[in-house]
Amino acid sequence: MDGLERLWATWRQEYVTGKPASSEQTSCILCEVAKIPDNSEQNTHVYSGSHCAVVLNAFPYTNGHVMIVPYEHVDGLDQVTADARSEMFDLLYRTTLAIQGAYSPDGLNLGANIGQGSGAGIPDHLHFHALPRWNSDTNFMTTVVGARVIPEDLALTLEKLRLNFK
Ligand SMILES: [Zn+2]
Repeated sequence: MDGLERLWATWRQEYVTGKPASSEQTSCILCEVAKIPDNSEQNTHVYSGSHCAVVLNAFPYTNGHVMIVPYEHVDGLDQVTADARSEMFDLLYRTTLAIQGAYSPDGLNLGANIGQGSGAGIPDHLHFHALPRWNSDTNFMTTVVGARVIPEDLALTLEKLRLNFK
C-alpha cells in the first residue's frame, strides 16, 4: 500500500463523533457539520460559501486537512447545480491558497472519492479533501503502525486557515 492508497482509505465515518459506522445510522455527519451556523462555538468552517462550506476534518491526515462539502446531501457531481459546482472549484482553489499561506507545504492533495466503490468513508455525501503534504510526511509511525501523529490542535488549525482564507 503506498501513501496515497493509505490516504484515500483513511477516512471512515468516525469523522467528528468518533463513532464507528453503523447500519442503524440515519443522520449524515457531513450534513450536520456543514449546517452548523457560523456564530456557533461548534462551527469548524474555515469558510461558509453560498452552496458549500470548507470544514475542518476532525480526524486529519495532516495538519490543515479540510473538506469542501455542499450543504445539500447529494452523492455525485451530477446532483449539484452548476453554480454549486463552480463554487466548489473556486473553494478548492481558495483553500489551496489558504493551506499554502498557513503551512508552506511541499505539495497538496486535492480529491474526492465518489460512489460506493471508491473507498469513500461517507459515500452518500459528496465532498472534496484538501490537505498539505510534505516531502517527509510518510513518517515512521505511519510506516510501522499505520498511525499518524498530528501535533497541531484543531482550534489552531482553524484559526490559521481562517486567517489565510481570502
Ligand atoms: Zn449529508
